[in-house]
Amino acid sequence: MKKLEQMYEGKAKKVFKTDDPKLYIVDYKDDATAFNGEKKGSIADKGVVNNIMSDIIFQMLETKGIPTHFVEKLSDRETLVKAVTILPLEVIIRNVAAGSFSKRYGVEEGKALARTVLEFSYKNDDLGDPLINDDHILALELATEEQLATVRKYAYQVNEELKPFFLERGLKLIDFKIEFGLYDGSVILADEISPDTCRLWDVNTNEKMDKDRFRRDLGNVEETYQNVLQRVKK
Ligand code: UDP
Repeated sequence: MKKLEQMYEGKAKKVFKTDDPKLYIVDYKDDATAFNGEKKGSIADKGVVNNIMSDIIFQMLETKGIPTHFVEKLSDRETLVKAVTILPLEVIIRNVAAGSFSKRYGVEEGKALARTVLEFSYKNDDLGDPLINDDHILALELATEEQLATVRKYAYQVNEELKPFFLERGLKLIDFKIEFGLYDGSVILADEISPDTCRLWDVNTNEKMDKDRFRRDLGNVEETYQNVLQRVKK
C-alpha cells in the first residue's frame, strides 16, 4: 500500500491518502494537547501506544459485531483504515463522574452514576466543542435520524464491551470519547480508543492511568501509557 500525500494533520494524528481511494493511512504522533489546544506538549512514544492499543481494541470490537474503520496495522505508528467521512460529533460515554461532567454539575470525581450517560459535543475547535443534544444534531443536520440512532446504539455497545475488557486488565473505565464516520453510507467506528480518549483508573489504587496525568501534571506520563499498553496486550 503506497502512502501518498497528506490529507489532514490533527492534534495527535496525520492522515494520508493511498493508491486506493477507499483507504487511508493514519500516522500517530507523540504531540499532546489539552484544554482545546491551550496546553501543548509531547509524550514520548504515545503515538506507538495509541496506535497499537486502538488496533487491538478495534479488532476486539469487530469480533463483537461493531463495525470499525480498522483494516491492517502497518507499523508501530501506522494503521491502514477505511476512508470515512467523520461525523462532526464527539460521542462521550460516562460510567463514573469525572472531568467536565464533575465540573459542570458539581459532582465529586469518582461518584458512580445511577445510569450510563451519553453526551454529544459538536466537533468544532473554533467553538470549543460545545455540548449538544439530539435535537441540535438534527436541526443542524450533523447526522440523520437513522445515523444518530446507530451512533447511540454502537456507543452503548462499545461501553458494554470495553468495561469488562479493561476490568480484566485491572482498569476501571470511567468515561471515554469515540467518533464515528460514514463509509459506503454506513456508520462505522473511527478515530481511536486510547489513554488519550478514555479515563482509566487502576482498580486497586484508583490511580489515574490516562491523559489526566498530562492534563493535570501528575507525572509518570510515559510510564503510565506504556503500562496501559502492556495490560491491553495481555
Ligand atoms: N475526551 C477526548 N477528547 C476531547 C474531550 C474529551 O478524548 O476533546 C475524552 C476524555 O479523555 C475523557 C472523556 O472524553 O475520557 C470525557 O471528557 P470530559 O468531557 O470530561 O472532558 P475533559 O475533562 O477531558 O475536558
